[in-house]
Amino acid sequence: MTIATLEPNTNNDFNQDTFNTYVMNTYGRFPVTIEKGSGCRLWDNNGKEYLDFVAGIATCTLGHAHPAMIEAVTKQIQKLHHISNLYYIPEQGELAKWIVDHSCADKVFFCNSGAEANEAAIKLVRKYAHTVLEFLEQPVILTAKSSFHGRTLATVTATGQPKYQKHFQPLVPGFEYVPYNDIIAIEEAITNIDEGDRRVAAIMIEPLQGEGGVRPGDLDYFLRLRKICDETGILLVFDEVQTGVGRTGKMWGYENLGIEPDIFTSAKGLAGGIPIGAMMCKAKCDVFEPGNHASTFGGNPFACGVSLAVLQTIEKENIIQNVQARGEQLRARLRSITAKYPQLFTEVRGWGLINGMEIKADIDLTSLDIVKKAMEKGLLLAPAGPKVLRFVPPLIVSATEIDQAIDILDNAIAFFE
Ligand SMILES: *Cc1c(COP(=O)(O)O)cnc(C)c1O
Repeated sequence: MTIATLEPNTNNDFNQDTFNTYVMNTYGRFPVTIEKGSGCRLWDNNGKEYLDFVAGIATCTLGHAHPAMIEAVTKQIQKLHHISNLYYIPEQGELAKWIVDHSCADKVFFCNSGAEANEAAIKLVRKYAHTVLEFLEQPVILTAKSSFHGRTLATVTATGQPKYQKHFQPLVPGFEYVPYNDIIAIEEAITNIDEGDRRVAAIMIEPLQGEGGVRPGDLDYFLRLRKICDETGILLVFDEVQTGVGRTGKMWGYENLGIEPDIFTSAKGLAGGIPIGAMMCKAKCDVFEPGNHASTFGGNPFACGVSLAVLQTIEKENIIQNVQARGEQLRARLRSITAKYPQLFTEVRGWGLINGMEIKADIDLTSLDIVKKAMEKGLLLAPAGPKVLRFVPPLIVSATEIDQAIDILDNAIAFFE
């Protein structure tokens, strides 16, 4: 992402130049300093108000300053926030039980981020291949082109986008890439990668590609994937870091596809914006033993206590129903925008409250251009690649807020007509 061409802030104590002197230059930040938030609204340090359709990148499930989160954070920090996994942590056990009771999983491992959850899944696949499948000294994990799985070395290798891997070679061995939603390609890869010890042990895939352009999985494709995995013993691993926790209008993204993965990961929305990651598996691949994998912070009382409060709030307040209704509304209104500007946009796609609007390939307009213009007019959006606008508001977004966002967006787009 490149820097937006908005005017920098001037009337405040915070200095962006000082920030840039000391903080490593790893992000193309917008020259905006967000100071506070409430619900689906944010304010910068000039007092300008924004409607937040980014939600900390699909993370602030309950929006900003939600009473249930304030209560859980306060309660937990007063009681106990961290002790390490040398001891039992009741909040961790309760959270694991909640997840198991509300998913296809039997067991949970906790860490602190999406990449770490995927690392844990990759290690679990490898141990399963070495010990249960036995034949495999060199297990291969198939991942999809235009996928995103994280920034650690193994997860950036798993990520099927060369732009994230540039200058970081040598990458981790044991990954191969196939086009998304293409069953023939998977069948061919499984056949071709079969030389003695080197065989496919798992397919790691997003039920809906998020960063890769908000691309929902095909029902038929995923039904076939499940069947192939059942027949061959290959593990099906879902990266639900962005799609989990109600985001798609179901608790887990896989519910939209009518199948269950053997392993799946979650992070972004799991504790409403407090760092957490989790890797879930079915009993058959629960092969970790003490010493195999660990995390100092993972599963601490603070993150788990807050996550539990977030999940209980989602359940108690029927938030998933809201996601479905607001998602329908949002897609309908986005389609009216694409109909109004057919020279600019091709299509709207998504599930629940993860939606994308694609800009025509052959015109000189990028998602970042529209993101900047919308920001100027008071709506925060995030690109999902150079040609897709991503809409991932907090799951508590109201009908009025959706209408307001679309009005601002329409106004911003009119500039490019
Ligand atoms: C964001 C994301 C990740 C990486 O999560 P981090 O918490 O940034 O490590 C992995 N997979 C998917 C699908 C994501 O959207």
